[in-house]
Amino acid sequence: MKAELVFVGTELLLGEILNTNAQYLSEQLALLGIDVYYQQVVGDNYDRARAVFKQALERSDVVIASGGLGPTMDDITREVAAEVAGLPLELDRTIEAELRAWFARRGREMSENNARQALVPRGATVLPNDRGTAPGLILPASQGKAIILLPGPPIELRPMFERQVVPFLTARMGGAPLSLVTRTLRFIDIGESQLEDALKDLIASQGDPSIAPYAKTGEVHLRLATKAATSEEGLARIAPVEQAIRDRVGRHIYGTNNTSLEQAVGELLKERGLKATTAESCTGGLIAKRLTDVPGSSACFDFGFVTYSNDAKMKLLGVPAETLAQHGAVSEEVVAAMAAGALAAAGADVAVAVSGIAGPDGGTTEKPVGTVCIGLAAKDHITTRTLQLWGSRQDIRDRTATHALAMIRRYVLGHHV
Ligand code: AMP
Ligand code: MG
Repeated sequence: MKAELVFVGTELLLGEILNTNAQYLSEQLALLGIDVYYQQVVGDNYDRARAVFKQALERSDVVIASGGLGPTMDDITREVAAEVAGLPLELDRTIEAELRAWFARRGREMSENNARQALVPRGATVLPNDRGTAPGLILPASQGKAIILLPGPPIELRPMFERQVVPFLTARMGGAPLSLVTRTLRFIDIGESQLEDALKDLIASQGDPSIAPYAKTGEVHLRLATKAATSEEGLARIAPVEQAIRDRVGRHIYGTNNTSLEQAVGELLKERGLKATTAESCTGGLIAKRLTDVPGSSACFDFGFVTYSNDAKMKLLGVPAETLAQHGAVSEEVVAAMAAGALAAAGADVAVAVSGIAGPDGGTTEKPVGTVCIGLAAKDHITTRTLQLWGSRQDIRDRTATHALAMIRRYVLGHHV
């Protein structure tokens, strides 16, 4: 089913109001699996509006319009649509009585121009409006097509669309509404372009489901999407494509949908009965914070260290004064000693340590802002790395924490750390 949207109102053309009905209706129709090929905006002008409705009805199966249903002279949508659909307007006594009652309840007299809102094209379905006076209308047209007229105010349009138009459209499509089914694969330790490169042919030849990469801070997400009657049916269509992706880059997928990296790392630690600890300088506790954001994290984390000064690194973690003096606090030697010290002090199975220059000051030519050293220690194992990160102080701290969590993940999975 092809739908076309028509928005009537000079205020839209003048930029006085934002066409939020366009976004709302397009989004809702996409969720229903209905294609929208065109949106048109036209002012409150009879002839131009007629031309717009005529063209829309010729090339689309359903025309959905908003605005111009009110009582004033410039509200012309009802008359225009009736003419284009070839239907005479008739006074609906029930609507007229309801309008009078609506005004009476508010202690107001109904002016005669309001009676125009009781005009109904012959054979049209009336959609009651419980938030305002103008009812919506569904006009039958030739070749089984239809024009649906909705009031302009979003507060009236939205409930009317959801309660009365969706069932109509669903029945039109044979009773099986399609909706968008998505699954997000979350990647770590791989860049967006690297990922795209690895999946180039799959992305180029994609049909259904669609494959879309999104770069996030320190990670990449891949969204697989399809339209289906049920989520089972959609996920069944997504599954083989996901498998093809996993066959190539599965080692970088840490989770799906809403799983966070810290959740995934916590799960891995718990599955294997391992405890982690942290020794943090530039992140000031952020890694421990993220690990313990996850409910139940006490199963894999007892405590960590925030050792900001050299003194603290020596006192709490036993980093030798000579190592600090010789290599500086931001060095692979120091993070190795920090990780080893934390591992022993916490009695943990794996320890990560970070020390870096988060900025904005403190950078040198040798160690510019964004220089971060990360170390991982476990029984009989020590790995260190130096990273060059970018962004604001907050970005650098966030990325550092993400790298540290990723390092734990690689260690636990037995990947190259
Ligand atoms: P109308 O039914 O054309 O008299 O519109 C009544 C009111 O509804 C307007 O003054 C706007 O505040 C609002 N409205 C109309 N069309 C739209 C639209 N496309 N998007 C958002 N609000 C709208
Ligand atoms: Mg208007």
